[in-house]
Parts: sequence; structure tokens; C-alpha cells
Amino acid sequence: MNLVERRIATEKLPWQDSDVLGTLVLVDGGPTTGTVNGQTVVLAGTNNYLGLTFHPDCVRASADAVARYGTGTTGSRLASGTYPDHAALERELAEFYGARAVMLFTTGYQANVGIISALADRDTVLLLDAQSHASIYDGATLSGATTYRFKHNDAVDLDKRLRRLSDPTNALVIVEGIYSMLGDSAPLVDICEVVTRHGAALLVDEAHSFGVLGKRGRGLAEAAGVEDQVDVIVGTFSKSLGCVGGYALSRRHDLTMLRAAARSYAYSASSSPSVMASARAALKVIRENPDLRERLLDNAGITYHALQQLGYELGPEVSPIVGVQVRDDDLALQAWHFLIDHGVYVNLVPLQASPGPFCLLRVSLSAAHTPEQVDAIIEAFRQLRETGPLRPVG
Ligand code: PMP
Repeated sequence: MNLVERRIATEKLPWQDSDVLGTLVLVDGGPTTGTVNGQTVVLAGTNNYLGLTFHPDCVRASADAVARYGTGTTGSRLASGTYPDHAALERELAEFYGARAVMLFTTGYQANVGIISALADRDTVLLLDAQSHASIYDGATLSGATTYRFKHNDAVDLDKRLRRLSDPTNALVIVEGIYSMLGDSAPLVDICEVVTRHGAALLVDEAHSFGVLGKRGRGLAEAAGVEDQVDVIVGTFSKSLGCVGGYALSRRHDLTMLRAAARSYAYSASSSPSVMASARAALKVIRENPDLRERLLDNAGITYHALQQLGYELGPEVSPIVGVQVRDDDLALQAWHFLIDHGVYVNLVPLQASPGPFCLLRVSLSAAHTPEQVDAIIEAFRQLRETGPLRPVG
């Protein structure tokens, strides 16, 4: 056996023996209805929080840009990969956030990996919330920094760890606005107080909170009133903005000085102009339609409270991500199939990707879900509990 054969022979995928990952889930349609593996369902397992993937302005802007600039830039931002829509989106995002500078990346994953590895090095300490996204951990690994995890959402534990450092001004603390599995948000006021008191720096990943929280939709830092205490905000276009891409920005510092140091920025092709054009159109929709956020949070609240009343164990607070905890692998898979058979698609999260000793049926809501679709989601979960695999035993 050579290395590739040995590696493949020892790898084990979650639910390997079922048809789930053997074939990958094939989704067709959107934003809120479609087929999954050929079955018609309400889509409640996307990150399409505002339902903008099919917004006519976004579709039109994207189509116009393809016609004008073609399908791709074939170059990094530092070479031939800067087109008018990249420059315009940077300007518009900077204005939206009141930021000094914005760096666009081709994905949110690349934004975290690039900016963290550009900010930190072997002489730096990184303090990551224990439930940080893989892209944050990967950025930390690439940076070579000494990395510690503090207890999830625990500002007291963070304080304790910062106190142990000989020079906390050499530390970067990283948290997320809304955590992607259980939908809970960081206690950002407390975290900012601790970080500022120690003179450390703070990065907030607003991937799931951008377009969702805050008076203008800028995220948790805006909602918590602490934007001026945050050094770096990272975000993605792959959720509320309904396309793909990422950004790092700062109201305090000129991050563009890190363009060459952020290797995922310097050594990877930039996004297609059509993607940038749809992100620009989506940002405009977000600015002009605060009611979208209200509708999303209404749908989230209705679903969260209904599932809680049905007796499901959920995350600690209402959010567009409602993580239903299932203790057992087999049960989770059966429940997921049951929901699809009853017309609802949610994400099936294996133990390895879950923040606790449970699998998750991860429901995510959208402003585009109609009241009837929200009812259908709740009804499928009611049946799952009454007659399906998650009915209480004994
Ligand atoms: N950060 C967080 C917290 C995320 O959940 C994700 C995506 N799931 C990312 C970053 C990466 O975003 P993208 O999909 O744009 O690569």
C-alpha cells in the first residue's frame, strides 16, 4: 500500500455505512424549497438567513457582471484580480461599518486563516474561545503562535488566562458573534471589558451575525455597542449576503498593510466579479430593508419556542440557528431521514463537529421562510417526537 491507499483505508467518515455521506446530499432549488436527494422539502438547513440568493437585484447584478467581465479574474488581488466591483465593494463595506479599511477574501475560511496568520507569529499568544470555527483554529496553526483555548463564552476564564501572561499586549483574543452550532452569542460586553483592561487585541468573527444582529445589521459588536473596542471584524458573504466570499475589516487600524502577509489573500485568485456584484447588491438590500432582520428573528423565535415546548433540548437563546440535540448517532440519522420524509431538510451534525457530547439536527431559519413553511418545520418536529424515532421511551 502506498501513502494514499493507507490514508484512505484508515479514514472513517461520519455515518460511513449509511447513504448520507457516501453520496453527499444533493440539493436542488432554493431559497426555501427544493429537492434533497430527489425529495421535495422545505430547506431549513442553509445559512441563507435573509433569503437573498434569489433576490432579483442580486441575480441581475451578478448576470450583468458576468456579461461584462466574464466568469473569473484568474488572478490574485495583488496581481490582476482587482476589478471595479472588488474596489466598489471594499468602499461600500468600509462605509457600512465606518471602517478604515477592508480586505476582501475569496471565502470566509480564507479570511480567518489569512488575517490570523498575518497578525500572529511565534512570539504571539492567541486565546480562542473553545468552540471556535475550524478556520480560526487553522489560522492559529498556520501562524505558529502559542495558542490557548478559554472556556466557551466565559469572560472570567479569559481574564484568568490573560492574567497568567507576562505580556498580555502581545495577545489576540478571538470570539464569534453567533456560534454556528447552537446559535448562542458571545458575551461581548464582558469580553471587551477584560480584553481592554489587559491591553490585548480582539477579533470578532461575525460570520453568522452579520445581517442578523445590530440596528443596521453590522453584527454582534454593533448590537452590544462595543464596535470601537474591537480591533478586527471578520465576516463572510456565504450567509446573509447569499453568495460567497469573506472580509476582514477594522474601524481602528489600516489592515490593508497586511495584504502581502495574509497568504490566502496574496496567493489565491480573487472572487469572480459577478460574485462581488451580487454581494454589493445584497449589501444594499440589507441597508434598505431592516424588516428582513425582523422577519428572520420572528421566524427564529417562533421555531425556537415551539421546539422547546415540544421538549427538545436546544441552545440557550433564540437565534436563527436552532440546534436540536440528539444524544445518539443512530437516532440522529433516523430522525434526519424522518424529517426529510416529512418534507423538511435540516443539517445533520456528527459528534465530531458538535460542541458537546451530542449530534445535532441543526435547523436554520430564513427571512424568506413563509409562516406556512415555519409551521411545516414545527409540525415535522412534532411528529418526530410523537410518532417518530425521537418519541420519548418508557
Ligand atoms: N467562520 C464561521 C464562524 C463560520 O461558521 C464559517 C462557515 N461556516 C466561516 C467562518 C467560513 O465562511 P465561508 O463559508 O465563507 O468560508
